[in-house]
Amino acid sequence: MRARPDLVVIGAGVVGAASAYFATLAGLRVLVVDRGHIAGGTSSRGEGNLLVSDKEAGPELDLALLSQRIWREELGEFGRLWEFDDKGGVIVAATQASAEALTGLTAGQRASGVTAVDLGAAELPEYEPYLSRALVSGAYYPQDAQLQPMLAVAHLLRLARQRGAEVRTGTEVTGLLRDGERVTGVRTRDGDVAAGAVLNAAGPWGGELAALAGVRLPVLPRRGFVLVTEPLPPTVRHKVYAAEYVGDVASSDAALQTSPVVEGTESGTVLIGASRERVGFDTTLSPRVLRALAAKAITLFPSLAGVRALRAYCGFRPYCPDHLPVIGPDPRAPGLWHACGHEGAGIGLAAGTGWLLAQALTGRTTDLGLAPFAPERFDSAITGEE
Ligand SMILES: Cc1cc2nc3c(=O)[nH]c(=O)nc-3n(C[C@H](O)[C@H](O)[C@H](O)COP(=O)(O)OP(=O)(O)OC[C@H]3O[C@@H](n4cnc5c(N)ncnc54)[C@H](O)[C@@H]3O)c2cc1C
Repeated sequence: MRARPDLVVIGAGVVGAASAYFATLAGLRVLVVDRGHIAGGTSSRGEGNLLVSDKEAGPELDLALLSQRIWREELGEFGRLWEFDDKGGVIVAATQASAEALTGLTAGQRASGVTAVDLGAAELPEYEPYLSRALVSGAYYPQDAQLQPMLAVAHLLRLARQRGAEVRTGTEVTGLLRDGERVTGVRTRDGDVAAGAVLNAAGPWGGELAALAGVRLPVLPRRGFVLVTEPLPPTVRHKVYAAEYVGDVASSDAALQTSPVVEGTESGTVLIGASRERVGFDTTLSPRVLRALAAKAITLFPSLAGVRALRAYCGFRPYCPDHLPVIGPDPRAPGLWHACGHEGAGIGLAAGTGWLLAQALTGRTTDLGLAPFAPERFDSAITGEE
C-alpha cells in the first residue's frame, strides 16, 4: 500500500478480518498486520457457533442479534464460502431447578427478539433422537447457526483485499507511534507505518496491545478444550448443550468449569466442549479436563460411551471481567480503537463488531450504542478481575 492507510488493523483473526472488510467497504484504506498467520490465534480454536441461545437479555444479546442479521443478510451471499450452517440449537435441562431457570431465560430472550421454543421432555426426541431420556425439558433456538471460522477469516480478508486492503502476516507490532497523546501509527519489526487510526483486534493479547499505548484493558485468556470423536453415523443434529452452560459462560470464577456442549459435523465427527478456566496461556493438555468433558457429554448422549476420541485441542477466549467485548475509540489515547475481548462468542459477534466499527470510523450513527462496550469502562468499575 503506497498511500498512508486510514486504518491499521492489528490482528488477522475473525474480528480483525470482519473489521477490515467492513472498513474497506466503507471506503477506508486498510492495512491488516499480524505477527503470525491468518487465523493463527483463537479464531482457529473454536467450533464456530453463532449463538443467541447462550446470551441473556442485554448488550451482548443485542450485538449477537445484529451479527446474526449481518452474517445472514449483508454477508449472506458468501455463506457457502465459510460453510454457513443453519443448524439451530437445543438447550436441555436435567433437573427441575434447571428447567425453571431455562423457562426464565427463554422468556427474557423472547422479549429481546430471540425465537426460543420451550420443549417438554416428550418433545426432545423429535429434535434429537439419541438424547438421554432422563432430561426434564429443553428449548429450541432456530436462529443458532455455525460456520467454519478459519474459512470465514481467510475469505473476509480476501474480499477486503479485492477491494483494496493489504494484509501483512509475520509482522509484529512492537510499539505505537505517538504525537503527544495521539496514536498516529504502529511500529513493527519491519519499520514504522503511519496511519489515520489504529485498531487493536489482538484478541486475548488485546490487553498487551493497549499497554503499548499506556492504557489499561483487562483482557485475559480463558482456556477452553474441545474433544473431537471419530466419525460416527448421524448422532447429534443441532448444537446441544446443558442449561448450566449459560451460567458457566457468565461466571467470573478462575477455577475450572465444565458443562456439556455437543454437536455433530458434516464429516461425522462429534465436537465436545466446553471447559473454562483461567490459567494464563498454558497449552498443556489436561486429561482431567478431557475426562470431565467426555463424561458430561455421555450424560446427554449415552450412545457416545465407548466412542473413541481422535484428538483434542485448546484455545484462549479473550475474557473481560464483565463478559462484554471492547469496541470503539479509546478517549485515553485518541487515534487508538479497540475490537477485542469477545470471549467465547467472537466468531458470532465479529460481523456486528466490524459493521459497527465501520459506521463509527466513518462518522456515521452506529446501529447500536457503543457505550456498554467502551474501553474506559474498567477504569472506575469494580470488577471480578484478579
Ligand atoms: C475452545 C473454544 C471454543 C470457542 N467456540 C466459539 C464458538 O463456537 N463461537 C464463537 O463465536 N466463539 C467461540 N470461541 C471464541 C472465539 O474463538 C474468539 O472470541 C475469537 O476467535 C476471537 O477472535 P479475535 O480475532 O478477537 O482474536 P484472535 O483470533 O486471537 O486474533 C488475534 C490476532 O492478533 C494477533 N496479534 C496479537 N498480538 C499482536 C502483535 N503485537 N502484533 C501483531 N499481531 C498480533 C495474533 O497473532 C492473532 O492472530 C471459542 C474459543 C475457544 C477457545
